[in-house]
Amino acid sequence: MKAVCWMGTGKVEVQTVADPAIINPSDVILRVTRTAICGSDLHLFDGYIPTMESGDILGHEFMGVVEEVGTEVKKLKRGDRVVVPFTIACGNCFFCKKDLTSLCDNTNPNARVCEEMYGYSGSALFGYSHIYGGFAGGQAQYVRVPFGDVGPIKIESDIDDEKVLFLSDIYPTGYQGAENAQIQPGDTVAVFGCGPVGLFAITSAYMLGAGRVIAIDRFPERLALARDYCGATVIDYSEKDMSVLEALRDLSDGIGPDSVIDCVGMEAHGTDVTALYDKVDQALMLETDRPTALRQCIQAVRKGGTVSIPGVYGGDLDKLNFGAAFGKGITMKMGQTNMHKYLKPLLDRVYAGQIDPSFMISHRIGINDVPDMYKTWRDKKDNVTKIVIDPFRDSGIEKLRSKAA
Ligand SMILES: [Zn+2]
Ligand SMILES: [Zn+2]
Repeated sequence: MKAVCWMGTGKVEVQTVADPAIINPSDVILRVTRTAICGSDLHLFDGYIPTMESGDILGHEFMGVVEEVGTEVKKLKRGDRVVVPFTIACGNCFFCKKDLTSLCDNTNPNARVCEEMYGYSGSALFGYSHIYGGFAGGQAQYVRVPFGDVGPIKIESDIDDEKVLFLSDIYPTGYQGAENAQIQPGDTVAVFGCGPVGLFAITSAYMLGAGRVIAIDRFPERLALARDYCGATVIDYSEKDMSVLEALRDLSDGIGPDSVIDCVGMEAHGTDVTALYDKVDQALMLETDRPTALRQCIQAVRKGGTVSIPGVYGGDLDKLNFGAAFGKGITMKMGQTNMHKYLKPLLDRVYAGQIDPSFMISHRIGINDVPDMYKTWRDKKDNVTKIVIDPFRDSGIEKLRSKAA
């Protein structure tokens, strides 16, 4: 089969590799009909996540049709169409039973490495380095899905693939980000970052009762989606003389937003002095993350407010304004998405037409286009907002006009 392989920092290639096979009786083999490139794939592409090995198959956002099932799989059969959550969970451990499936105790065979870094390991992830299990990802024509009865959710209608694909990660991730923001009816919520997770955090914040959502980014195509499709008030932080903190204060009766959601994560762009300091540090491997956005979130939130962090962080943060967090008595909630509990309720919202998650797709590509499009995505060229891949089409980039434009 053809698969997208990580071949070193900044290097992604399409290779012909062996088809996956059933290893455990609970496995499912999927023929991938749609997959996507995620913002967090860039952390791998840019070399910020350790323990990647040359030839690792990338991709954790995918869906497809069941090709083969292991002998213990009960809920799925050949021909079923499913979406697969990016976290791999056993469904049966202490954490899974509490719906904390991203913290599953049983699925990461390399837990020891994570335990050394973090104390305890989270669940395994598809296509996301060997510290997270070394599982082959779904930017490929076929993929092996462990725990076939636990993760994949069956699509019961003939709804288009691209309307349900993002249940694999970014929609639940944005939703959990909004849920973790502890929004009360009428609240003002600020969302840092209008990438795919940020856009879903905005729409989810409104669904959870926010009165006003303010979205911060610097790319016009993202700000346009945030404003025109998601209904946010937008701030372009790259504007001359723009002070995001002052703008947020002005938009929230002078006290600051009730909740702030960091949808940026470890590779924040940032323009201030500490951002430059972070860039040097990260380049010298003294610091693993550049927490510019997180610092601003902590600074911006009102006293007693909540900072929610769906953005990904990997290591030790330098110059984090923890004193501000303490001094203002804020709550911080974060973590990988507990995908499994959101799939059904969010799929029902899609069926009901409350949201069409495909609104953010800007490019539909074939598998041979993927290496170039990693660069386009990294550099935010060509008005890119989200890339989906048809792994059985060789090449040809379809540019979709966003519905907001
Ligand atoms: Zn993702
Ligand atoms: Zn578990």
